[in-house]
Amino acid sequence: MIVWCAYCQTFQGEKAPIDAYALTHGVCASCEARAAIDDEAAVRAIQPIVAFYARLRAQAEASAAIPARALLDEAKSLGIAPIDLLWGMLQPLLYEIGDLWSQGRVTIATEHRFSMNVETVLDAIAETLPAPAPARRGAVDFLLVNAEGDHHVIGVRMVDLFLRMRGRSTFLVVPGLPSREVLALAGELEPKTIGVSIALPEHAVRVREIVDGTSGFLRRPRVIVGGWAVKMGLSLDLPRGAEPIADVHGWLPR
Ligand SMILES: [Zn+2]
Repeated sequence: MIVWCAYCQTFQGEKAPIDAYALTHGVCASCEARAAIDDEAAVRAIQPIVAFYARLRAQAEASAAIPARALLDEAKSLGIAPIDLLWGMLQPLLYEIGDLWSQGRVTIATEHRFSMNVETVLDAIAETLPAPAPARRGAVDFLLVNAEGDHHVIGVRMVDLFLRMRGRSTFLVVPGLPSREVLALAGELEPKTIGVSIALPEHAVRVREIVDGTSGFLRRPRVIVGGWAVKMGLSLDLPRGAEPIADVHGWLPR
């Protein structure tokens, strides 16, 4: 379930069942503390958000083109910040359309078209952010990569935008990069953290190569792991020192 605060209309995170994609309303901590408006008004206030989400879902399922700029403008007019649109609507929709595809209820073309469309939204959001500073040694907070063999770029691109919106400096390379190149980049840039996205359990071996490869570094980076395999809670053979992060939105405080 996708939980939004009915009062301030911000995405709060997901709750079980994780594969049910209905948008439901809750109350965030700060609104609860302020007791801003009464319950009835809150339920009314969330209705446009629910309707907006339902329409987006229908467009995705119908393979319709969703113009990125217009989408961002409409979200803004509803008080939805780009970051909440990303994590609270586009991300769950990507998973849902993927599920519908695996059940044979939409075609691969529909799934691909929606993914392409989401990428245009990511581009439009990226344009609104300050251009990243040139990557300098020691000045990169996060080196973000797909594991070699992983071609699912949207998730790691979303994480990149999410971190940049929070003022973190990132260096993103997608799709999949051989571990030796990840290590070479890490040696050059000395990032504080390496974020590796893995789609499948078999990609865990790449994480091991990266963790092992950084053991001789003077300033050893933290290694975090995300991606479909982590989010779905699959059993993964991750090396000691690699931190799986299933919920990026909840991981870094707003
Ligand atoms: Zn709230």
